[in-house]
Amino acid sequence: MRYISTRGAAPALGFAEAMMAGLARDGGLYVPEAMPAMTAADIAALAGLPYEEVAFRVMRPFLGGAFADDDIRALIAAAYAGFGHPARAPLVQIAPGHFLCELFHGPTLAFKDFAMQLIGRLIAAQLARSGRRITIVGATSGDTGSAAIEAFRGLPGVDVFILFPQGRVSDVQRRQMTTPAEPNVHALAIEGDFDAAQARVKDMFNDHAFRDAMGLAAVNSINWARVLAQTVYYFAAAVALGAPHRAVSFTVPTGNFGDIYAGHVARAMGLPVARLVIATNQNDILHRALSTGLYATEAVRPSISPSMDIQISSNFERALFDALGRDGAAVAALMDELKRTGRFAIPPGALQALRAGFASGRASEAETRATIARTWAEAGELLCPHTAVGVHVAGAHAGPTPMVTLATAHPAKFPDAVEAATGIRPALPARMAGLFDRPERVTRVPDNLAAIQSLIRERTGR
Ligand SMILES: *Cc1c(COP(=O)(O)O)cnc(C)c1O
Repeated sequence: MRYISTRGAAPALGFAEAMMAGLARDGGLYVPEAMPAMTAADIAALAGLPYEEVAFRVMRPFLGGAFADDDIRALIAAAYAGFGHPARAPLVQIAPGHFLCELFHGPTLAFKDFAMQLIGRLIAAQLARSGRRITIVGATSGDTGSAAIEAFRGLPGVDVFILFPQGRVSDVQRRQMTTPAEPNVHALAIEGDFDAAQARVKDMFNDHAFRDAMGLAAVNSINWARVLAQTVYYFAAAVALGAPHRAVSFTVPTGNFGDIYAGHVARAMGLPVARLVIATNQNDILHRALSTGLYATEAVRPSISPSMDIQISSNFERALFDALGRDGAAVAALMDELKRTGRFAIPPGALQALRAGFASGRASEAETRATIARTWAEAGELLCPHTAVGVHVAGAHAGPTPMVTLATAHPAKFPDAVEAATGIRPALPARMAGLFDRPERVTRVPDNLAAIQSLIRERTGR
């Protein structure tokens, strides 16, 4: 299995190299050269298996022998052993034909743990073989950073630098990043929004001398290994609801397009997915792009679902690559236009392909709050605001096909929004006790590439 860049001008890599590289050297994102297929019989055989075995069977064809089967099984088992639910991604029904897939039972209470707990172990295994040192650099709107720090804290051979927008993450998210005491953890509060943080990370990767000197690696949602780990719960959920004999739809609260792109991959592998619905908050660039054909960035408007407060949706490039018939030069030209002008028109053929693959909708702040209140009143479930965006949008796509809305974070990760809507302050699970007692460690940085680079050089001593 080889991985190629969406911009067509970087060398093809194997799984381990693509995972360690993150972003391709031409600025593109790695995708498999060809999508491995699961037959209806392969999918039917997943019924009743433990989540870990489903993960092994879904991911194995993508690894191309990069890890021995016994090793990958052990890494998967270790990755999910710390989750607070034996089903790992349990389904909960909230209305006739409407289910939540709860993805928040990992150590940092958001779906990012599914990928990050695994990729941390895969990277550590790879480093142990090669004796290399790496520097993980990531931007976060809150949940990626906490999940990355949780996955890499104390690992030998790795320094982790996470840039988060100062003042724009929840207290729980910030504390999950700033309280780990391990010296390889570096939480950086940038004076800017998430898009600024993400842009500086991209700049660092595009500075090849810096990238090589630091051994930069990315674990943002652009990392292929993360997308791959996320395809697994689409299979697990759909099979539990009757796939492959019955199709299932998914609504996905979306920011950087990573989680929903994983659904696209599951479908491309053969999972019968009827509808894949993009749910955005008031930062609705993806919904506008699909509706109008114009992908045009605006200023980020902070919302009560901050992990989706994004205007440049990195993984959308992967969907665009497929929609453009895998024409890397065409993707590169559009991305260049985006960088120069902040917008591009999706070519008509590609727009048609995207609309065939994805539906979309948005939830305003008021709709998000009302959905939290209504779901609590009607179904007795507390939703985090991101999940509520999904549940609101899913409402417009009800039909005979079962709908699964991905519940992307635990309500206690965003207690203020939940309390404002329901009057109930959701409690942190017992295993998180102590988070508010530990001292914080954070460095404030300007939105300035050179300043951030010199800090990283100083901290790593390289
Ligand atoms: C990251 C995140 C999202 C958005 O996921 P993408 O893969 O960026 O689309 C939604 N909800 C929560 C809680 C998140 O942490």
